[in-house]
Amino acid sequence: MPTAEPRTHRLGVLLGDGIGPEIVPAAVEVLDAAVATAGAKPLDWVPLPVGAAAIESHGSALPPASLEALEELDGWLLGPHDSAAYPAEHRAQLNPSGFLRKHFELFANIRPAKAFEGVQAITPGIDLVIVRENTEGFYADRSTYRGTGEYMPTADVAIAMGIFTRPAIERIAREAFELARTRRRHLTVVHKANVLRMTTGFFLDICREVGAEYPDVELDDFHIDAMTAHLVRRAAAFDVIVTENMFGDILSDLTGELAGSLGIAGSLNASHTRAMAQAAHGSAPDIAGQNVANPIAVIRSGAMLLSWLGTRHADPALQQAATLVEAALATTVESGTRTPDLRGTATTSDFAAAVAATITAGR
Ligand code: ATP
Repeated sequence: MPTAEPRTHRLGVLLGDGIGPEIVPAAVEVLDAAVATAGAKPLDWVPLPVGAAAIESHGSALPPASLEALEELDGWLLGPHDSAAYPAEHRAQLNPSGFLRKHFELFANIRPAKAFEGVQAITPGIDLVIVRENTEGFYADRSTYRGTGEYMPTADVAIAMGIFTRPAIERIAREAFELARTRRRHLTVVHKANVLRMTTGFFLDICREVGAEYPDVELDDFHIDAMTAHLVRRAAAFDVIVTENMFGDILSDLTGELAGSLGIAGSLNASHTRAMAQAAHGSAPDIAGQNVANPIAVIRSGAMLLSWLGTRHADPALQQAATLVEAALATTVESGTRTPDLRGTATTSDFAAAVAATITAGR
């Protein structure tokens, strides 16, 4: 396959709420250092307003101008948002990340969980990736064309709808099998097919059908409830896990914490043409503004974006940059430079500077 001439990638940077304005710039600093060290073209960052600051400045948590700008970009870094704290008229709308996932059909949410050496993790050997279907399932806010699938026919009755479609399940299953092929070739489907037979049972059946194309990948499956126990007991036994939207959201918070802290859990939301890097955690309003938040999750998410761009645009220097970031994070954490959630004393900005310096020192 001919290799395209490497080009400059234009990436959006959307700070978000709570700890977002602290951790997202930390990620930009580290990614810039990695790209320079790997010899890739410098990244062209495009700042765009989102969240509470955008409500103040533009009257919308996701201004139309930000959305239009994103259409033209190769990908972006999205900070967390605290939509529960928005004024009532903005709370009623789909939150910015849910909206972006649906609008751009970012169907695959990839959430790795990997412990660092020497960092106290509940399950030390954990090294797995959750592949979460991101566009339908039991998240009613994403399962309809207009409006949401959650409604109240009377004041005392609430109904939520789950949607499961063959094309969406086939594409997420393929994504998961392809990922498993690049790892330990073991895929686990998580469902609740004994009770939710037509919906999650359908999800399981289609994953098995797609599995016929991947005889080299070992396939097994667990009920969602049993899976939580298996993860706590023997997380190291799992490689890639594929599941529907809500199960994946819940399970990935669990695996992030099992690996040491929610603050280290990266995540990428991707379609075949676009990707949005976004930490798996929320806006952590309890620690916002103190320069103590752990930026690892958003840094790792950014590295996943570089790797995705590198694969998509056949640019090995970007993949190298992503590898440098992961290695420098491990070196920095193992050397004892850690934020308070990992029982360290480093500030957010000091930690990011240490990671960037580690990368640059290897030049
Ligand atoms: P959301 O609903 O948006 O996921 P949440 O309030 O349920 O938000 P988080 O904002 O992720 O959850 O916070 C959960 C806990 O994890 C909080 O105690 C928070 O301080 C902590 N936490 C989350 N992210 C980080 C981080 N990057 N560094 C340190 N602690 C974090």
